Formats: sequence, C-alpha cells, structure tokens
Amino acid sequence: MHEETSLTVGRVTRVLTERVTPAIYSTSHPLTVKTHQLDGEPIPPAHGLALDFAPFEVGSAWGPAWGTTWFKLTGEVPAGWSGRRVEARIDLGFDINMPGFQCEALVYRADGTPVKSINPRNQWVPISDAAEGGESIELYLEAASNPVLLDYHPFLPTQEGDIETSSPEPLYRTRHMELAVFEPEVFELSLDLEVLLELQAELPETGPRRMRILQALDNALDRLDLQRIVATASDARAQLRDALDSPAEASSHRIAAVGHAHIDSAWLWPVRETIRKVARTTSSMTELIENDPDFLYGMSSAQQYEWIKEHRPEVYARVKDAVAKGRFLPLGGMWVESDTVMPTGESIARQFSYGQRFFEKEFGIRSKGVWLPDSFGYSPALPQLMRRAGFEWFFTQKISWNQRNVFPHHSFLWEGIDGSRMFTHFPPMDTYNSQLSGEEVAKSTRQFRENRVATQSIAPVGWGDGGGGTTREMTGKARRLADLEGSARVQWQHPDDFFDAAKAELTDPAVWVGELYLELHRGTLTSQHATKAGNRRAEQALIEAELWATTAAVRDGAAYPHDELDRLWKLLLLQQFHDILPGTSIAWVHREAAATFAAIVADAQTIAAAARRVLAGEGDRKLVFNPTSIAGPAPLGAAPAAASGLSVSLTERDGGFVLENDLVTVVITAEGLITSAVDTATGRDAIAPGTEANLFQLHQDFPNMWDAWDIDHFYRNRVDDLRAAESLSAQLVDGTAEVVVERSFSTSALRQTISLAPDSATVVLRTEIDWNETEKLLKLAFPLDLQAATTEAETQFGFHSRPTHVNTSWEAAKFETSMHRFVLVREPDFGVALVNDSIYGYDTTRDSTDAGVSTTVRLSLLRAPRFPDPDTDHGTHVITTGLVIGATPESATAAGIELNAPATVVTGANNVAPLVSVSGEGIVVSSVKLADDRSGDVVVRVYESRGRRTTGALNVGFAHSGIREVSLIEDEIPDARTGAEFALTPFEVRTVRIAR
Ligand SMILES: [Zn+2]
Repeated sequence: MHEETSLTVGRVTRVLTERVTPAIYSTSHPLTVKTHQLDGEPIPPAHGLALDFAPFEVGSAWGPAWGTTWFKLTGEVPAGWSGRRVEARIDLGFDINMPGFQCEALVYRADGTPVKSINPRNQWVPISDAAEGGESIELYLEAASNPVLLDYHPFLPTQEGDIETSSPEPLYRTRHMELAVFEPEVFELSLDLEVLLELQAELPETGPRRMRILQALDNALDRLDLQRIVATASDARAQLRDALDSPAEASSHRIAAVGHAHIDSAWLWPVRETIRKVARTTSSMTELIENDPDFLYGMSSAQQYEWIKEHRPEVYARVKDAVAKGRFLPLGGMWVESDTVMPTGESIARQFSYGQRFFEKEFGIRSKGVWLPDSFGYSPALPQLMRRAGFEWFFTQKISWNQRNVFPHHSFLWEGIDGSRMFTHFPPMDTYNSQLSGEEVAKSTRQFRENRVATQSIAPVGWGDGGGGTTREMTGKARRLADLEGSARVQWQHPDDFFDAAKAELTDPAVWVGELYLELHRGTLTSQHATKAGNRRAEQALIEAELWATTAAVRDGAAYPHDELDRLWKLLLLQQFHDILPGTSIAWVHREAAATFAAIVADAQTIAAAARRVLAGEGDRKLVFNPTSIAGPAPLGAAPAAASGLSVSLTERDGGFVLENDLVTVVITAEGLITSAVDTATGRDAIAPGTEANLFQLHQDFPNMWDAWDIDHFYRNRVDDLRAAESLSAQLVDGTAEVVVERSFSTSALRQTISLAPDSATVVLRTEIDWNETEKLLKLAFPLDLQAATTEAETQFGFHSRPTHVNTSWEAAKFETSMHRFVLVREPDFGVALVNDSIYGYDTTRDSTDAGVSTTVRLSLLRAPRFPDPDTDHGTHVITTGLVIGATPESATAAGIELNAPATVVTGANNVAPLVSVSGEGIVVSSVKLADDRSGDVVVRVYESRGRRTTGALNVGFAHSGIREVSLIEDEIPDARTGAEFALTPFEVRTVRIAR
C-alpha cells in the first residue's frame, strides 16, 4: 500500500474506532436493575412480568447454561435530556464476535408488548425520539444464558450441549444497563466513514476514485474536533458528501439485498430455544421495518411462524402486519429448511405442502421459490419436485463451501434425474450472513460467473446461524451503497422480483445436470444413527397410517384422523431440519429427536392398527396386510398368506456354511465372511474372486474440523479389517437359514444374523452392535464381481447414477455419497444391489482382481465424532442390510421397499382388496391418502422407478366420479390430464385426485 494511503487508512480506522463510535452515545444514566432467575424451563412472558424480582448489581455474574433470567429495569429520563433521542443500552456480557451463539434477550414494556431483542451486535432499545425529562422507564428482559459451544474452543468435546449435563455456574457478567442519549449525526458519520473506508480498499491502488475518497476522508477528519465530536460531526460529513453522492458506473453489478437471519430450527441449542430465537429476531426485524421505509426482511420455514403464532402471539401480530404490508417476506414454501438428500420423496412433498398451506392460510400468499441457503447438498430429484409443487426458482449458496471444485455458475438451470429444469441462483458473495461490507460487495462483482451476460445477484443480509438478523448499521450501509461510484448497486428487493429480472436478462442460461453435491460435510449421511433410523421408521409409519386410514375411511366410513396426521407429519418434517436429520446438533436435540421419532412411530402405528382392525373385521383368519404396491399377497390390501412350497438348505463346509435355495447359493466362511454368492439362473457370482464380502472395516475418523459433519478423505489410509469371529453357528428358523456370527473389536461388539429365506435372492444381514468407539467410522464392504461404469443409488422417486471412476476432480471429491433404500451395481446383463433399513452413506471404488476390474461398495454404518455431541452414537444399534443377488432396477427397488415396509399380520375375517392398484412396468405407488382439503377425495401418488418410459393404469377399487392430475401439493393444475391411464417418462412423478 502507498505510504500516503496507509497513513489515511490508519488515521480513519483509529478515529472511527476510538473516537467516533464511542461518541454515538454522548451521555448516559444508569438504570435500576432487579432479576429473577428461573429454576427451570422458560415461562410465558405474562408470567415473567409478574415474577418477584430481587436487586441485582450491574457488573455481577448471571446465567447458568440454558437458564432463563428475567431482568426488570427501571429509571427516569434525566431532566436535561428533553427533546433528545434516548435509548437504553444493555450489555449482558456479550462477546460481539459471536452473535447467535451466546446470551440474548427479548425486551418487553411493562404492558407486555415486545420491543425488540438485544444480542451481541444489537445492544440498544428505543425509548423515545424526543424524550421528556422525568419520564419514567420500566422494561423487562427475558434473557437466555445459552452457552457458547463453538467459537472459543472449536470442535472440542463439551458437556454443555445438554441441560442434563451442563454446568450450573453462571456464564455471563453484565457490563452496563443504562439510558443514553443517541447522537444521530455521529452515527451517520460512523457509517459514512466505514463505507468509504471499506470501498477504497477494493479499488485499484492508485486509481483516481480511490485517491479522491482518501482525500475526502482526510478532509473530513481535519474538520472533526476529537474533543467535540457531536458538535463537529456535520461539518465532517459535509466533506464526504461528494464522494458519497458520486453515482455508480452504468455497468456496475446489482445486488438484490434481502434482510435475513438464518435461524437454524435447532443446532447448538434445543428446539425450545429456537422458538425464542425466532421471537427475538422477528421483533427486532419488525422494529427495523417500521424505521426504514426501504428495508425488506425475508424469513423461511412455516414452522417458525407457527411457533411464534402459538408461543408469542404479541410478536406474531407484528409479523403478520408487516407481511400484509409486503415488508416481511415469507420465503421458501417449506415447513423447515430441511435436508434434501435423505428425506423420502413423500417427505419433500409434505415439506412443500405443509409450508405452502400455512403461508396461504395465514397470509394469503404462496412462495414462488425454494429458499435453502444452508442444507448440505441437494438431491437431483428436487428440480422435478419443486416444479411439480409449483415453484419457479431455487436459491442456495452452500455449494460455495466445496473443498475442491469451484462451482462454475451463479445463475443457471438445474436439471434433475427426470429432465426437469429449475432456474437456480447462488449468490457470488458466498455467504448467507452478509454485513454488506465493502469486501463482500466487491466479491459479488468480481466472482459473478455470468458477468458477460447478466448483471445481478442476491445478498442475504444479517446476522445468521442462530439469529439476530439485520441491523440498522446494515440498512444504513445499504442506503449509501444504492448508487455509489466504484461499488455494486445495492437495493432491498423481494427475491421473486430478483428472479423475474434475472430470468429475463439471462436468456440462455448454462445447465447443470444432476445432484448438487456438497464437497464437505460427508459425515452427515452417517452421524447420529438413531436419528437416521428414526426418520426412516417414522416416514414409513406415516405412509402406512395414511394408506390404511384411507382404505378404512372409503370402505367402511371410518373417520380419517386429519388433525392427528397433520400433527405427526409436522413433527417429522421438523426432525428433517438440516442440523437434526444430518446428526449435527447437540446431544439435547438428538435426545429429543429420538423420543419424538419413537412417539411419531407409535402414534402412526396406532392409527394404522385401528384402521386395519376395522378392515379385517371379527374372525380368526390370519390376514397379511401388505403396505406396498410391489409384492406379496394383495399389494396395498390384505389377504391370507400363501405357502410357497420352496425351501432352503443349510450345509456345513470348512467350518463355515453353504446356504442354498432355488435362486442363489451363498458360501459363508468360518469367519462369517461371504466369499461366493451365485445366481442360479445365470451362474454368475456376485462376489469378486479371492475377496470377502460382509467384511466390517473400522477406520480412524478424525476430520480436521466439523467433527459430526466431515469425513476427510485420509480416513481411508488407516483401517482394521474385523475378520475375527468369536463364534459362528447356524440353524433353520421357520424354513429360513440363519447363520449367527459374533465379533468383538476395540471397545465394541456385534452380533450378526445372516439369513436366506426359501423364496428370496436377498441375503439379509441383521447386525446388532454395541458401539462404544471414539472417532471411528464403521464400514461394511462388498467387493462385487462387476465391472460397473456407475453405481445407481436410490433418491426421491428414482435413482441417480454416479461414475465409479475418479477421472476428474469432481468425481474424486465424491468419495462418500448418498443413498436411500438401495444402491445397485450392474453390468448390462447382471447386477447386485445392497439394500438397507436405516443408513444413507456409501462409498465405491474400482478395484483390480486376477479376473479384471471389480466394484467395491461399502456401506457406512456408524461414526463416533465427539463434537457437538461428545457421546455421538454410543449405545446399541440394529442395522439391517441386504445383498440382492442378480438385481435389476425393478428388483432393487422392490427389495428396498420390502425391507423397510414389512407386511403386518392381523387376525380377522375379511380379505381387503386394494383401494387402488397400478398396472404397468416399473410404476410404484408412493402414497394413498385423503386429500388435504378434507373433501374426502382420495389422492394417489405414483412414480416411474426404473428410469424408463412406461405406460400403465390406475385401478380404482371404489366408486368414484373421475380421476384427474393435481400438483405435488394437491393444487388444481390447468389442462390437467384426466382418466386412469397414463404414460410416464423416466422417473416421472404423478399425483392424481380421485373424486368421490
Ligand atoms: Zn443452517
């Protein structure tokens, strides 16, 4: 930097920090403080205001981890302050480096009206624009002493993440709680100086614009009397006017700013704290909206609106009012900002339907776009699902976190597995927590990939990751950056308006095909297995509850439990939030998630059982209720089980066993490993010659950071093959051959049952693990005798193909990838699939054997990271996987569904014909339910599962008055197709409404 430049920069920096900013408040007067620390959990504000308060000395400590302390502040405006702008300044012991991660409070007036929140970067409370001397002041603070879990000792294990283990010691020490006179002109000067100081740093070193700004800054400081800042601030500002009035260049980049807070629905705090975070943040944002006519604030997640509606109605009323005025923008159309990699297609559909229905009912609006700044990668099924739900745009920025490859577009079309395309934007600023700093604004201009053909990008502006949101400093900056030479133009804008303009100017956008894989956070497919398993069970339980309740409602006139199903779905959708289902929250959150999943499953099973009882009637026949559309007696209905007449043989060989039925022959060694699995029809062996499948492999797994999130690729360099078996035994159980293997390793033990049923080509591997490891990753390996170009892993309503090679850095970065119920590996005429009941991660390698190239697939079973939950995954887990020998897309899909949706046997009298069934190859029924509008119509969703074109028909087993297509969220669609017959394109999803 030029000597003169650095002298000016140093001068402005020091004067701004040491003199101007401290002069924003010219005088202060202490408030009288009393407190009441609650013994337990938070209470409603009305109760808080009525508590008994004890004297409290400012400067003393308060607040154990997760505690709530009510503060009562009283005082009087000093006589000499009449006509001045007066604020309260409250420092609860904040560290300004960590907004969102520490103590916070919501401020109430004596009558219970919320004022705004205070947090590390927003410590003021408005009292009066023109105060009256002698006016008495009474404020109440509901203060939360949430512990700092991340920044001081990043990624070190801590017991503070659960109220059951956290320390009772106070965490914070108050600094000041006072009334103060706010000097608007000094505040404006501070922003003038900051904006120009930050802007000049981004300009060419000796360019005239930078030089003129530096001269203006020097001139301004020459006018400033450092002992009389308030009196001379206006004079100093006058020297900066020309520099701030100089307009932006015609070609300057345009930034659509949207106020934002990114309040994670749970993360390093429990769900109950998020409810309060939302109340705090939204009360501050409505206050800012009232005081800045241009400012727009956007908030996603219908769940967060519903929380404040229920728990903080006084805050919600203000939000509703601001929404009606078009200033507070409900965004995203989802129930929560969910993970999109692991939930089923039905769950994604419900994220959209519950989200949009809430926004419509409460505000009379629908979101036009999906707003997901922070989830960890995006499934290639999303473009179709978003389009079929009626969305027009998609927004994220997380892919900028890629470890290796820089994503090549910022505005582009994203194409999914079915060919649907969605207009998508990533902000080139690479953040969802913008402060509108000069550096961030310049970065947008510099990095925007479409600079040749487009002119605009989005900036979400505000403190996020726990809330706080936008500040008056940021809106002040936005005002100065609206039209400023050398800067991008910044304008508050609704994302809908941005997307309309961006689409209009980008006439030939680039296309990105397939998943938006995040080259980071690969451990989120595996961490917190109980949460993953709970999600899988709850998803299936709700689908079955809907199926049987619908069948009973239509056939027998039974009441359909709409309210109860809504309640359960919303609970499930919340658990799919992008830090809960991925396993990246504190212990408290996962402890509650496990209990919630168990409750959802139990309640959904109660609904299903009651409906099956109605359908079965009184009798003593054993009826098999099959909840899937693909196999067994009466798919989607119930019928007596038929005896197969098939058998399986079990013979001992070389200390191990051979399992054989008409379809396959499986060889298990004395160590319990599978060395051969031959398909009878083709004679092909699934297992690569000279290798062992069903091999547990234990890796050291200690990533450089983000423990629960990340698996770093070097984990592979250290591995223990768990070959040794403590015991091996076998027997026939009800005609099924079962081999039981027991293994102990490190501090853990497992018991695995390998079974083969008479009529099945799937070897089922049920593993019960007592897992007590630290920083380990457990894989289950299957070296397959297949020279496969790709693996095909199930996602929502279909599967996606990933190359098995690592020719390019993009493939190499995908060293841990996602699946739902199956991953299929195949040559043109023979394939093998691995299915599972509760896991989501796998990796693939191309290996070489004497016979040529083979493909090894390894399922990711368990991890043991220590941050943020120090005991992640400790305890007992049951994980069932299956090796499907001779698999095709049809049989892999079927095996995956069957493993997760076993039939239920009920004693009764009546066969139950399916309410609906489908004919047509590859068509799967995904859900059968009564319509959300409670009209009694039946809604059925089907999809093409093989990635091929197909035709078929829906067979409706009840009197109806027509079938017509509706959107994914049950909206009427123009020119809807009607009738029972349909032609589907690859992976097409179709939702139909059957009128009754
Ligand atoms: Zn987040």
